[in-house]
Amino acid sequence: MRPTRINMPQRPARERARDFIEVNLGYSSRQAQEEAQRCLQCKTRPCVAGCPVGISIPDFIKAIAENRMPDAVKILKDKNSLPAVCGRVCPQEDQCEKKCVLLKSGHPVAIGHLERYAADWEKENDVSRQACAAFDVTEPRVAIVGSGPAGLTCAGELVKFGFDVTIFESLHDTGGVLRYGIPEFRLPKKILDYELNCLKKRGVKIFTNTLIGRTKSIDDLFSEGFEAIFLGVGAGLPKFMRVPGENLNNIFSANEFLSRVNLMNAYMFPEYDTPVPEGKRVAVIGGGNTAMDSARTALRLGASEVTLIYRRSKQEMPARVEEVHHAEEEGIKFAFLTDPLGYKGDERGFVKEVECLEMELGEPDESGRRKPRPVKGSNFVMPIDMAVVAIGLSPNPLLPRLTKGLETTDWGELKIDNDFMTTKKGVFAGGDIVGGETVIQAMGMGKDAAQSIKQYMFQKRMEC
Ligand SMILES: Cc1cc2nc3c(=O)[nH]c(=O)nc-3n(C[C@H](O)[C@H](O)[C@H](O)COP(=O)(O)OP(=O)(O)OC[C@H]3O[C@@H](n4cnc5c(N)ncnc54)[C@H](O)[C@@H]3O)c2cc1C
Ligand code: SF4
Repeated sequence: MRPTRINMPQRPARERARDFIEVNLGYSSRQAQEEAQRCLQCKTRPCVAGCPVGISIPDFIKAIAENRMPDAVKILKDKNSLPAVCGRVCPQEDQCEKKCVLLKSGHPVAIGHLERYAADWEKENDVSRQACAAFDVTEPRVAIVGSGPAGLTCAGELVKFGFDVTIFESLHDTGGVLRYGIPEFRLPKKILDYELNCLKKRGVKIFTNTLIGRTKSIDDLFSEGFEAIFLGVGAGLPKFMRVPGENLNNIFSANEFLSRVNLMNAYMFPEYDTPVPEGKRVAVIGGGNTAMDSARTALRLGASEVTLIYRRSKQEMPARVEEVHHAEEEGIKFAFLTDPLGYKGDERGFVKEVECLEMELGEPDESGRRKPRPVKGSNFVMPIDMAVVAIGLSPNPLLPRLTKGLETTDWGELKIDNDFMTTKKGVFAGGDIVGGETVIQAMGMGKDAAQSIKQYMFQKRMEC
């Protein structure tokens, strides 16, 4: 057994930093088998406990090691309906790979890379026809609001139970953050389209351009004959720092910036209608995946210098380790322990500089991360012509405000019980709208909520 994990082949940084083609190239079959053979097939299966959807990790890895690829796909898909997505974007280092016994040696099994390999093998070998065979859908009718990973997973599970499932999505295209947030160079749209086509073939109906709460209400859906509703509406409301000058031109929320590029194809303007400014000196504020995606996108749009401003140190960054590594390779600059105080603009109202303050780390806060505190008198100015604010998102209050009986927590998330039911009977919720933070958490909740909906329908029928 080789002691070190096999790195994922990737495109050279200099070449990829100027285009939107996927960075990672995927394992060859020889590499996948060699990596799979590193797995010790532990009896206690600690890695499975680290997976929010409980994939039988040692079993799918064994199937790859023995070149039984259809088995590997089947085992994966049994628990995860979007493995090609998860193999690309899950923070494995905080989940399954963190629990792998080989972590002690510094080289846990590359579970995410192997998941991606198996999922891509499925597509390339056209076993999808069988996997996406239509189910015999009859009743009851369930409405899913939102087509992000929570909604898609819930829909996929319900249609397997034989339910008649309809997804309503407010945007003109489906996928939630997987489409409008995560850029093409990390998650090609064709991967997402493949998974969506599979759902459609299975009988799930999808209506886009339908904002539930405005186009029609939740009560309208019940009146139309839907017997249960799942809300997977995410948390798409951008947060701002509320510092002076934040309203200047060319200061964007990450949501708007990434949506323009990913959803509206702004990088192909004027071929597509939506423009996006091509900042030359760009500051991105934040330290998560959204900040990393914004910085790397700005670089690909032609910026000559992109600086990521983060008020803590590298160790505290919530972004996936791989994204930070890729950003560094591509030439993104990092201003750690730096806090923006405000922006100044030129005579036309366009941002021209950001004033910052240096920070130092103090005691850990409630999240366990060391809290930054200002270093007195350390102010400095950074000249910029564009800024992207990526300091987090919060739930959109529209639906609870317009729906009688839907209660929220102090943070604006929907209140749910242990069965994912909200405070409104027959309405369930999961994903970021109830406090999830990752794709796989959203999927896990979508899946568990589907079980609860099945149970709820069963009880409803018994009561009739
Ligand atoms: C830029 C970015 C990068 C990220 N990178 C990663 C990563 O690498 N790995 C990871 O695990 N996580 C990542 N995340 C987090 C992850 O994407 C989210 O946790 C996940 O998408 C949440 O899924 P969801 O289904 O709850 O919501 P979403 O993906 O937000 O989907 C919600 C959908 O509901 C629709 N909707 C909202 N309101 C209504 C309404 N009233 N009517 C109809 N439709 C509605 C929205 O348009 C949207 O399509 C990232 C997030 C962002 C923003
Ligand atoms: S913990 Fe690591 S070595 Fe053990 S079964 Fe899981 S992946 Fe294999």
